[in-house]
Amino acid sequence: MGKSEEITLGIRNIRLPAVLSRGPNAIEGIGSAMDLLGDLGRGLIICDKITYNIAGRRVEQLLNEKGMKILVYSIPAANGKVLDRAKGLIFKHGAEIAVGVGGGRPIDIAKKSSFDSGIPFVSVPTAPSHDGIGSARASIRLDGINTSMAAHPPAVIVADTTILSNAPYRLIASGCGDVISNITAVRDWEIGRDENGEGFSEYAAELSRLSAKLLIRHASEIPEKTGNSTRVVVDALITSGIAMAVADSSRPASGAEHKFSHSLDRIVERPALHGEQCALGSIVTAYLQGGDWEMLRDVMETIGIPTTASALGLKREEVIRALMEAKDIRPERYTILGKGLTCQEAEEALKHVGIID
Ligand SMILES: [Zn+2]
Repeated sequence: MGKSEEITLGIRNIRLPAVLSRGPNAIEGIGSAMDLLGDLGRGLIICDKITYNIAGRRVEQLLNEKGMKILVYSIPAANGKVLDRAKGLIFKHGAEIAVGVGGGRPIDIAKKSSFDSGIPFVSVPTAPSHDGIGSARASIRLDGINTSMAAHPPAVIVADTTILSNAPYRLIASGCGDVISNITAVRDWEIGRDENGEGFSEYAAELSRLSAKLLIRHASEIPEKTGNSTRVVVDALITSGIAMAVADSSRPASGAEHKFSHSLDRIVERPALHGEQCALGSIVTAYLQGGDWEMLRDVMETIGIPTTASALGLKREEVIRALMEAKDIRPERYTILGKGLTCQEAEEALKHVGIID
């Protein structure tokens, strides 16, 4: 019996975020949003230099005003050493909560260090750049390789749409690319179910699709960067995270297009953003799946997500090789790539969808 099949048959405790506080200036209410977690005395804020200035300092002030003793750890990276240091600080400071303020890295370190230390965590995203802001998985670099680790979802998410609307547009667009690629991820999951007897959760699959459809429907509004369009992006990212929590796996949001992105990370010296690479991967994956790749490409273009290798600064040979080698990433996860593509097949597919000339 596959893991996901157990999900549908047995009793499971699905861990979801308890509070989602989102809207303009939501950060100002972080104290009351955290009240649900009980009377907290000490906390650790994890941020980096940039996100401390964007929101970390304000969170520190607000929690100090609440009477909490706050320690700030400004991280230089998200690797094993930084993770150990964060856990050490939680222990030494006696922190009862970890607050991650940032895009990817501070959130990942806060998520994993709090999980390992048995304390809850609060997610304060400063850029809606990927679906990790509300998910239970953390991506941390170990021995030079980005590793996806099991952790827990945030107890509280404070999504301040004023801050998030001011994030560089490239990061917002990348977050959209990450979620829209759920379309091909879910299709791959269905293929895994049909061809390989893999366990499947319709609930998780539909939630994942829903998050992508939300962005597809609102694609033309997203470049306007209004509070409302940012809220749609945040909702989609969080729904995608919830889909993964329901499946207890990244499966609903990670198929061949994610393998392609991870494959690029291995090959390319300066990879593009995660969501941008997944978006490219999703277009070619949809083509291989016999799906509506043109619709996906058009939506990506409407949002302003690059749809060619050259627009992302990727070389022709790099994307061909990444697509050929994508099957080697998580080989146990069945996708449309099956046992892999030949060089010629990979080149033909990438050419057909216009990713390369
Ligand atoms: Zn992703």
